[in-house]
Amino acid sequence: MALEKIPQVLTIAGTDASGGAGLNADTRFFALAHVYAATVVTGITAQNTQGVQAMMPVSESLLRQQMKSVMDDLDIKAIKTGALFDEHIVKTVADLVSEFPEIPLVIDPVMVAKGGAKLLSDAAIDLMIKALLPLSDLITPNLEEAAVITGQSINSKDDMCQAAQAIQQLGAKHVLLKGGHGAEETVSDLLYTADQQAYWYRSERFDTIRTHGTGDTLSAYITAGLAKELTLPEIMPDAKVYMNQVIQNGIDVGHGHGPLNLWA
Ligand code: PLP
Repeated sequence: MALEKIPQVLTIAGTDASGGAGLNADTRFFALAHVYAATVVTGITAQNTQGVQAMMPVSESLLRQQMKSVMDDLDIKAIKTGALFDEHIVKTVADLVSEFPEIPLVIDPVMVAKGGAKLLSDAAIDLMIKALLPLSDLITPNLEEAAVITGQSINSKDDMCQAAQAIQQLGAKHVLLKGGHGAEETVSDLLYTADQQAYWYRSERFDTIRTHGTGDTLSAYITAGLAKELTLPEIMPDAKVYMNQVIQNGIDVGHGHGPLNLWA
């Protein structure tokens, strides 16, 4: 019997006990996208749709061991990182992924959860910029994260372009700057590629609080596409259509910022 080959990806991320965001969102999307996902857990969160109640990063040795278990055995085609919690995790993850420069790396620079909980310490932010960001093929900051990374506020499309260029100068190959947290009626995302092409994606802003795990799902979509050997300009239009669909159609889970309806 011929074994089916499906692309294998790795998510290096934190768990969400209520299943909405983080590693849980990643694996749910990867399964739907017909991609096999390995998981290296950076930390555990006690969390639900109403907020983050507790969190604990894993030890450096357990992080290293998980990565070794996966990479010694599987044939990983793309890697993504999510919540990294503290500087020890950031440093170790940077060290671990640097051993696999040929594998596309997507960094979702998760800093703060929707409810306001910090998922990355200040010391870790600095280290992420210096040690991890330069290893990325794509980094996917929202406007607040891009402002923290560049040290500049972002209030217009011109500012978005400048921020994307600045982030590229820090060492990221491609930059996807997500405009979802802006104030305008339409949402503009900017993909700024290594060859300095700007691709804009505009969509309607939906009036919903059911957006828990949006960033995770978009970065998982892109990671799955890269594992299938698609380019970012090929992936993004479909990714945006999909994201609009799953944000617009909620599911009835929890009492706060509920998860996306990936089955919509
Ligand atoms: N919790 C974990 C463990 C995450 O990795 C993330 C995002 O990556 C979040 C929470 C953020 O979720 P939200 O979409 O509510 O901001």
